[in-house]
Amino acid sequence: MWNEVTDAWKGAFREAWISFISGSTPIGAVLCDREGKIILSDHNRNHEDQTINKKIAHAEANLLRSLDTSVYDPKSLTLYSTMEPCPMCMGTIVMANIKTLRYAAADTHCGMTHLVKIDPYYSSQNVSCVYEGKELEQFQLTIQSYYELRYIEQGADGHVLGKFAEHCPSAVKTAERLFKTKWLDKAAEAEKDVGEVYDHIITEIKSLGNAVVSEAFRSAAENGQIIETNRHLTEKK
Ligand SMILES: [Zn+2]
Repeated sequence: MWNEVTDAWKGAFREAWISFISGSTPIGAVLCDREGKIILSDHNRNHEDQTINKKIAHAEANLLRSLDTSVYDPKSLTLYSTMEPCPMCMGTIVMANIKTLRYAAADTHCGMTHLVKIDPYYSSQNVSCVYEGKELEQFQLTIQSYYELRYIEQGADGHVLGKFAEHCPSAVKTAERLFKTKWLDKAAEAEKDVGEVYDHIITEIKSLGNAVVSEAFRSAAENGQIIETNRHLTEKK
């Protein structure tokens, strides 16, 4: 839950939520110094009116372009991104001399961290990529799947969502659930605090987990397997 999220991640998700509220792809990023203090933060701006080149207004690239390298040594900084960087952002991270990247969610659509293992140039740059996963990933993929559902409603195909669903079905299921009542749109309109949104989504995912378990339990009961389970439990007592 939100109270267990570190300050760096709180900062990054705050930025992602700003993107969501402004109608952009909900991805946020922060740069932290060695002490873990956030020195810079930014978000995806692909749907902001003042953005003149919307396709490439990604969180990580926006962030790094505003880093003053006469003040900070990029090698000493850690970049936190709520989503695995795309080809452009991964390239920008490497060329900007960032050596530590932490990302919350794997991007099975266009994430490029595998380049540090397979490409000779990327691997020579010694960038450490840390994949966080767990609740941080579930939250990110839920808000991003919700964003994709808007496009699908307008007629886009669902190939990106399909990739997310293969990797993290609970996030996509939760996004679909929330989309039915437009919960996130209402939360964005009300400019709800990101912590409140995070806790709501994680609670939804947990309840979905229980629902899936109950479904499996019901189907097992129908197949007679549950009797075995009960017997086993009785014997244990
Ligand atoms: Zn990018």
